Amino acid sequence: MSAYSLLILPGDGIGQECMRETRRIVDWAAKAGGLTFTITEDDVGGTAYDRYGTPLADHTLALAKKADAVLFGAVGGTQWDDLPFDKKPERGLLRLRKDMELFANLRPATVFAPLAAASSLKQELVAGLDILIVRELTGGVYFGEPRGIETLPDGQERGVNTQVYTTSEIERVARVAFDLARLRGKRLCSVEKANVMESGLLWRKVVTRIGAAEYPDVALSHMYADNCAMQLVRAPKQFDVIVTDNLFGDLLSDCAAMLTGSLGMLPSASLGAVDAKTGKRLALYEPVHGSAPDIAGQNKANPLATIMSFAMCLRYSLHQAALAERLETGVLRLLEAGYRTGDIMSEGGKLCSTTQLTDELLKILA
Ligand code: NAD
Repeated sequence: MSAYSLLILPGDGIGQECMRETRRIVDWAAKAGGLTFTITEDDVGGTAYDRYGTPLADHTLALAKKADAVLFGAVGGTQWDDLPFDKKPERGLLRLRKDMELFANLRPATVFAPLAAASSLKQELVAGLDILIVRELTGGVYFGEPRGIETLPDGQERGVNTQVYTTSEIERVARVAFDLARLRGKRLCSVEKANVMESGLLWRKVVTRIGAAEYPDVALSHMYADNCAMQLVRAPKQFDVIVTDNLFGDLLSDCAAMLTGSLGMLPSASLGAVDAKTGKRLALYEPVHGSAPDIAGQNKANPLATIMSFAMCLRYSLHQAALAERLETGVLRLLEAGYRTGDIMSEGGKLCSTTQLTDELLKILA
């Protein structure tokens, strides 16, 4: 039997409801795959502030670093809006990402055929869409120094941020993207603005070198970020895996995500470096959506983004690709059978609560 440790952090609002249902799917995976899970659950975000006085307690961070994977719900809520900046629920998530050094953010944009009509693009452009954006998450202009706002001698103010990447930062995220491309369609598109930015020139040079030396079987192409934004809405199915920096990835992954038309369907993963001694990679899996205070506590939330984040965990952290595929196919069958939560409801659909949708999914998976 394969044994794994999971840290489950449901967080706030619908994070709790979606994670409650995901735990049922974890139980299914244990049975279906003959796996043993050692599960620890703790608070994060606003609920952690209420319990520990901080949105991420030190002991929780230590647990996250020890676990094979972290399953994260969502954080935030109006009751914590007035807290000082460093106590806000969202700081808990940012600290987790930073202290676990989760440098590669994976955002799939997959359109399940039964939901193609929900996209803002024409159905034929997105039906069957299956792309993966790998965004560098811990470097670039969001962290570069110097940064700040200074007052100039003439009284004007000057705001500064610095776009900066080192060879090793580019190499490690490129390798993650090449590895993933190998598991998929073997095509990788590297995105920067080498035409106007030196950091982009270096990015292109390093990705090209890694590709030629280590991944000759993966077809590598390059694209400027502005063109990529245009191509994502013109012909998104031309892409397989995209790798890009923190800033461009922030914009392009949101753009790609919205091609799918529904926030409640979007999973994500954030990966760290592989530990040379243990061969393990720190990883956190979370839905893209937030805590949705407007529907929290009403058993209305769509749990599928959190459930499919667990499918990513099965694939990337637990190396259970067949089980991940079974779960994803189950979700497809569920949607084909017309089961819907309110956010993805369409004419003729069968409206379900969060719990009912999971009940139906479990029946399909059985
Ligand atoms: P949100 O994602 O929580 O909600 C946006 C809209 O989408 C809401 O109308 C909500 O009801 C709906 N929605 C989201 N997920 C859904 C689901 N699974 N099923 C059905 N409907 C769903 O974003 P927001 O309203 O901008 O933010 C609310 C709170 O969440 C804020 O405190 C924000 O800071 C926080 N937030 C947290 C994360 C995170 O934890 N990773 C991400 C984004 C926002």
